Amino acid sequence: MIYDLHSHTIFSDGDLSPEELVNEASAGGVKVLALTDHDTLDGLPRAEDAAKTAGLTLVRGVEISTRWEKLDIHVLGLGVDLDDSTLVDGLKFHQSERITRAQQVSTKFEKLGIEGMWEEVSQQVKTHYVGRPDFARVLIKRGVVNNFQAAFNKYLAAGKPAYVATDWASIPEAITWIKSAGGVAVLAHPGRYRITRTKLTKLLAFFKEAGGEGMEVLYSAQEASKTQDLARLSKQFGLVASAGSDFHGFSYPGMRFGALGEMPSGCQALWDSPLWQKCVN
Ligand code: AMP
Ligand code: MN
Ligand code: MN
Ligand code: MN
Repeated sequence: MIYDLHSHTIFSDGDLSPEELVNEASAGGVKVLALTDHDTLDGLPRAEDAAKTAGLTLVRGVEISTRWEKLDIHVLGLGVDLDDSTLVDGLKFHQSERITRAQQVSTKFEKLGIEGMWEEVSQQVKTHYVGRPDFARVLIKRGVVNNFQAAFNKYLAAGKPAYVATDWASIPEAITWIKSAGGVAVLAHPGRYRITRTKLTKLLAFFKEAGGEGMEVLYSAQEASKTQDLARLSKQFGLVASAGSDFHGFSYPGMRFGALGEMPSGCQALWDSPLWQKCVN
């Protein structure tokens, strides 16, 4: 698979710089890469320069956090302009929500007897992103947990004691931001939400109705049967099929470049659709 349309750098919760990311993608055989940091466009200019040097096509992307029926749902914008004020202002709002939430998460940790988390997290944050993975890193450093997964399972995931629901944009709002910036709206990792298949079909119907155009069908560390089912759903709901590793660096070993396999036949790949021209210009 030469397309990988979902990845992260240090500008959100990834481990690699944009230059390192492009080199890692290239080494994995990727020829068309989207950088999709959470709620920020800040890494894109450097990634574009690095991609030019490395001979890759870079798709300017973003992964927007949204709230739908008390769930955190992620929407990818692919092919977005960097200077669209609707998108830029929306992302600024999310960046300030992130700071508010981080302080609330820290208060929750204090109640659990784990002090000074905001102070330590805010010291290590160097970009516009502050998120739960930053808390996971501090917990690991302090020896409270051994790894990322444990930090989420014990404290940070929805329903766990340090989880704080955030007032993210709605799905229709995020889609409006993306379209305002000339991009294509793709539902991220539909196989990863902890919901029933019936609820997933409700989400897909809502996403489509709101103007969503695509969904990830190929995704890291996903069983073949799941991929086949998502391919069927993409056809059923008229959403083009995208492919993304969700590479974050080496904190998430299951998410690697060059391991996505081939798009199942029977669904329309984003890059074979008329929408693709919006992603690459
Ligand atoms: P945030 O943007 O602060 O809500 O953090 C979300 C990020 O944390 C996701 O993009 C993942 O990288 C990571 N994450 C979320 N849930 C989990 C989980 N259950 N286990 C491990 N990592 C997770
Ligand atoms: Mn992430
Ligand atoms: Mn995500
Ligand atoms: Mn992601």
